[in-house]
Amino acid sequence: MNEKENKGGNNDEPNKKFSIWDLPDVPMGQLPPHLQLQKTRVVCKADAPIHTDNISYSGAYASIGVDNSVHLDLFRDNFKVNVIRLTKEDMEFDMIGIDPALANAFRRILISEVPTMAIEKVLIAYNTSVVQDEVLAHRLGLVPLKADPRLFEYLSANDTPNEKNTIVFKLHATCKRGERRTAVYSEELKWLPKGSELIKEAGQADSKPTTYTSFTCSQDMLPEFSEDPISPSEDKIILAKLGSKQEIELEAHAVKGLGKTHAKWSPVATAWYRMLPEVLLLEDVEDEVAEELVRRCPDKVFDIEDIGHGKKRATVARPRDCRLCRECVRGEGWEERVELRRVKDHFIFTVESTGVLPPEVLFTEAVKILEEKCERVISELS
Ligand code: SF4
Repeated sequence: MNEKENKGGNNDEPNKKFSIWDLPDVPMGQLPPHLQLQKTRVVCKADAPIHTDNISYSGAYASIGVDNSVHLDLFRDNFKVNVIRLTKEDMEFDMIGIDPALANAFRRILISEVPTMAIEKVLIAYNTSVVQDEVLAHRLGLVPLKADPRLFEYLSANDTPNEKNTIVFKLHATCKRGERRTAVYSEELKWLPKGSELIKEAGQADSKPTTYTSFTCSQDMLPEFSEDPISPSEDKIILAKLGSKQEIELEAHAVKGLGKTHAKWSPVATAWYRMLPEVLLLEDVEDEVAEELVRRCPDKVFDIEDIGHGKKRATVARPRDCRLCRECVRGEGWEERVELRRVKDHFIFTVESTGVLPPEVLFTEAVKILEEKCERVISELS
């Protein structure tokens, strides 16, 4: 006989106090279904979602004898990552069994803490275009560069720009007299692996003039760059437009930085997640009502199946595509037919790279950064 049976609601004992455990549908050591639903799902009603909070307090269900604390073994057994789509630019994957705080930590690290290389200093020799120097420099800063930041060091205020901390590009574009207005594209930024070519100070007769960088070797001698030269990650980003007899000549110096300093160092165009949608039909939705339901959904989540005798029934065919517009639960009677839910610990994560590094590498870097942060906290606490 188990504990519940032992406590069973037996009216033969008139003075016995009854508790929740005496109810026939409450299993021992588990949450009753309505609390389990509140804990694991956000329910999206027509006017607002409910059960949106994350119940993480270990003693939240102590009064009914359920342990809500986090167990590392349990987390390890339940945690899963499934890659759904992977291209050169973007990646969609499912992270299952994770807390929203952790999913959000990855998102924030991807946006602002994975380092990249971006143009920080622009030396303008000549600019007769209509784009002012400051605007041109700003536009150049936002051009994503295909250069692995892990191969470079940060340049601090007292450092000399060298081959380990700076990438130099030059740009020289002209529109000859009488020519049609022409666009200057990012592909015209040419990498200078030997460093700056602009003279900072003319040297003495017996010495070389100094430039704005001090490279001791050519960057293209490094094996990483000899086969995959550094360049803007996109060729056709318009930097300026030149009219007849206009000219731009400049040198751009890129350094390593973080997105939290300036968005130009952010390696992602976007990194976002949403919880897995669950769409349930609470009753059979048939005939004209089924057709109305299919018509209401802009994301084609529902299909209609033929159930014989000339009757049709709505089915949930593509719940993952639901964007939660709530059109299917608006209006009288619809909330009784359809229920929209979100799974609280299942995140559909999308990472869209700017082209600096492949998206899967960016995510791996974000994991390493979070790991380092955790180690730092542990060592400071111990
Ligand atoms: S919420 Fe919108 S997208 Fe989702 S199933 Fe309903 S109508 Fe379709």
